[in-house]
Amino acid sequence: MQFTDLGLSAELLRAIGEQGYTTPTPVQQQAIPHILAGRDLEALAQTGTGKTAAFVLPILQRLTNPLTSPLQKVTHTAPRVLVLVPTRELAAQVLESVRTYGAHTGLRSLAVFGGVGINPQIQTMRRGIDILVATPGRLLDHLGQRTVDLSKVQTLVLDEADRMFDMGFIRDIRRIIERLPRERQNLMFSATFAAEVRELAHTVLRNPAMVEVARRNAPAELVTHTVIKVDQDKKRDLLLHLFAAHGWHQVLVFCRTKHGSDALAKKLEQAGVRTAALHGNKSQNARTRALADFKSGKLAALVATDIAARGLDIDSLPRVVNFELPNVPEDYIHRIGRTGRAGASGEALSLVSSDERIQLRDIERLLKREIETSIMPGFEPQHTHSVPRPAAGRPPAQKPAQARTRSSTGERSGAPRPPRPARSGTGGAKPASHHSGQRHR
Ligand code: AMP
Repeated sequence: MQFTDLGLSAELLRAIGEQGYTTPTPVQQQAIPHILAGRDLEALAQTGTGKTAAFVLPILQRLTNPLTSPLQKVTHTAPRVLVLVPTRELAAQVLESVRTYGAHTGLRSLAVFGGVGINPQIQTMRRGIDILVATPGRLLDHLGQRTVDLSKVQTLVLDEADRMFDMGFIRDIRRIIERLPRERQNLMFSATFAAEVRELAHTVLRNPAMVEVARRNAPAELVTHTVIKVDQDKKRDLLLHLFAAHGWHQVLVFCRTKHGSDALAKKLEQAGVRTAALHGNKSQNARTRALADFKSGKLAALVATDIAARGLDIDSLPRVVNFELPNVPEDYIHRIGRTGRAGASGEALSLVSSDERIQLRDIERLLKREIETSIMPGFEPQHTHSVPRPAAGRPPAQKPAQARTRSSTGERSGAPRPPRPARSGTGGAKPASHHSGQRHR
């Protein structure tokens, strides 16, 4: 199937062509006809599947068609489309897509999110916009100040709905939805259909079409997973060694905490690796700049908490390093989803200390495979790495809900957990001559 088969307008096809895309991705093929037809939609699709264009393109088309958007000649001062997203970064990315695909439509769009001044947003909205992309908190600020009018919204998009729950936005979303016209089109995108997402879908969507595309990273054929076993207190030196030995560029490094990210970023900078940290304590300007510099290749490393794990769209990111494993195994999938995108291959390298063996075991269960492990000469772990293997067929242990929330937002404060006291043995992994050469299970 080609884009031309989807019945999109000439203006949109031109913009798509300018991006060099010819073939719609599976979620685009499935979702676009339903959205064009005006139906509600429930889509199970992760970031990286092309889901943004899957809703942006038909929305633009409906807005420019007087039959599907009769208001267009009457008013531009109130947005006709509202896209709710969980993070500032995602808001900026969705806006970029709206502007890219809508380049020849003359439609006006704006993203409103916190961490930046509210007045420029108010002024832009006064001049009139068609599409508003917003994080829930800042949108509620605007509603409180009566600086936004949502009474003309004809389409609502809830993007990354599961992430909205993880971040505790559900009450905000319900408050926002109360302010929308009852008659509207509703589109919900989520990477998972957890029970709470289903319940929201049930209350918001009306007779929705269902679209489900494969998780891009589930079996991760495109991504090479590797673990290097190393003691916690040697991880920084090992990471520096890897940067120096391989001349790495554009590496996204994940830490569990803001504090840990800052400390690691500083260490890398001091060693001459151009680095920035990306987490929730950074100002929005600093976050935007860090991301732009990383994307353009000015920075060799971006050290991030899990807030950066979802939604970030960085073309051809060759490598993700887990400096620390996440507590919630699903976050591993989201982290490595930043690499191996759009058919490119990628490498997910995890530095794993003995106190992370439970997290590693849970991740392997989720991936349904063991991850190849190696030991770097000169960085041999002194602490044991033996992972208790469960009896075959035993279901994975459930994490307490609070641990899931804290880890998935990545915004838990405090220092990384120290390694556990020394135990005997080196964990049975044989030494490897080179991390990317011989590997051992
Ligand atoms: P998303 O899932 O929306 O985050 O999109 C992931 C990436 O795929 C983005 O860089 C898009 O620009 C890109 N993309 C979207 N649609 C297509 C397509 N039909 N062909 C190739 N790349 C695409």
